[in-house]
Amino acid sequence: MGKIIEPLRGVHDVLPEKVAAWQLLERITREVFAGYGYEEFRVPVIEQTQLFKRSIGDFTDIVEKEMFSFVDQGEDHITLRPEATAGIVRAMISNGLLREGRLRVWCMGPMFRRERPQAGRYRQFHQIDAEAFGFEGPDIDAEMILLSARLFRRLGLTGLKLCLNSLGTPAARAAYRDRLAAYFGTHESSLDEDSKRRLQGNPLRILDSKNASTQRIVAGAPLLADSLDAESKAHFEGLCAHLRSAGIEYHVEPHLVRGLDYYTRTVFEWTTDALGSQSTVCAGGRYDGLVAQLGGAATPGIGWAMGQERIVMLLEKQEPGLVREQPQVYLVLVGEGTEAAGFKLAEQLRDAWPSLKLQINLGGGSFKTQFKRADKSGAQFAVVLGDDERAREVVALKALRREMPQEECAFSQISERLGVLLGLGIS
Ligand code: ATP
Ligand code: MG
Repeated sequence: MGKIIEPLRGVHDVLPEKVAAWQLLERITREVFAGYGYEEFRVPVIEQTQLFKRSIGDFTDIVEKEMFSFVDQGEDHITLRPEATAGIVRAMISNGLLREGRLRVWCMGPMFRRERPQAGRYRQFHQIDAEAFGFEGPDIDAEMILLSARLFRRLGLTGLKLCLNSLGTPAARAAYRDRLAAYFGTHESSLDEDSKRRLQGNPLRILDSKNASTQRIVAGAPLLADSLDAESKAHFEGLCAHLRSAGIEYHVEPHLVRGLDYYTRTVFEWTTDALGSQSTVCAGGRYDGLVAQLGGAATPGIGWAMGQERIVMLLEKQEPGLVREQPQVYLVLVGEGTEAAGFKLAEQLRDAWPSLKLQINLGGGSFKTQFKRADKSGAQFAVVLGDDERAREVVALKALRREMPQEECAFSQISERLGVLLGLGIS
């Protein structure tokens, strides 16, 4: 026997019994985006490595150490996408879509980051992603946040906290960065090793440090709010006013900066207490300079990304009753010629009821074996076709989960009878 091949570290299989929560999340996501006029956009999983280096920034966790990058047989430098925004912006430019002016899009799919795997943190994970281009005012910032809040509500998720901050213009941010570098420079000896390294490349990231002694120094750091330009301030206040009038509770978090370089002005995060240290379920912000940085005509942009695994974990905690898909009907076939007739009957039933979930017994077996399989499948009804039934062009219909006497039903009648019993065609 060959040696078993293990999965890679930090990737996981979604087993059929666990898929219900994923499907629920995906269905509600589609509905909510449609309800706000956002269109789905599908972009590649692989891109040129330089796309991510140029957009996310050299001194970020992602580019420094998390990207899955390789050189292929044709010497192309390729990276498995660690996030969706860069690829979407690239696609907007490559396809000339920004000429249309204003766009609202969303996408969903796998992302890849070579992180230390732990609960809620994986090397292949999935994100739902929303992006909007060409909107300057704070109204789109508010819409994006409202949309995410509605998604949580539709999923029945509660206890999520919204944190907001403004990073200002690139100039305000650069000035802040210098002030921070000076401040942390005077406390360098008390910083942890990671933060010492960040002091040169990206002192803003020290604000994110989880190290207790660094956090004490962070507490006294200058605030970005004090370096904000007037327009950014007005933008931020505009957003807050929208949120208040929509009844969305928020917390201004002066040290919230987010890990990616391309953000300007609004940044926000939704967090939960229910998932231990991996507490952020959705994060985003405005990136007014990114399109131009990637070679497109200057266009403001904003987006957020939601970690699907973390949402699914919350759903499973809250709704342990989510059940796997089960067939409604199990077709029992016993006897020589019944298989062909059974396949034909099954196809006719599926033609008649596109929503019908019917599983056919394969590989033969006695009545007893097949009934055991029917029961295990979770089906509501067994439709039985034996030699005798086939000769008379009837089937036996047996309820598996409710009191109902066994019935005999003509081939010509079975579709209608199942329709009534299963409420098919009634939406
Ligand atoms: P963190 O600080 O937790 O590393 P991040 O800033 O790197 O987060 P983003 O790039 O903003 O995360 O991604 C948006 C969301 O995607 C996160 O809030 C989280 O829900 C999810 N996410 C990010 N990385 C992972 C991962 N490795 N595994 C699972 N989900 C992830
Ligand atoms: Mg990260």
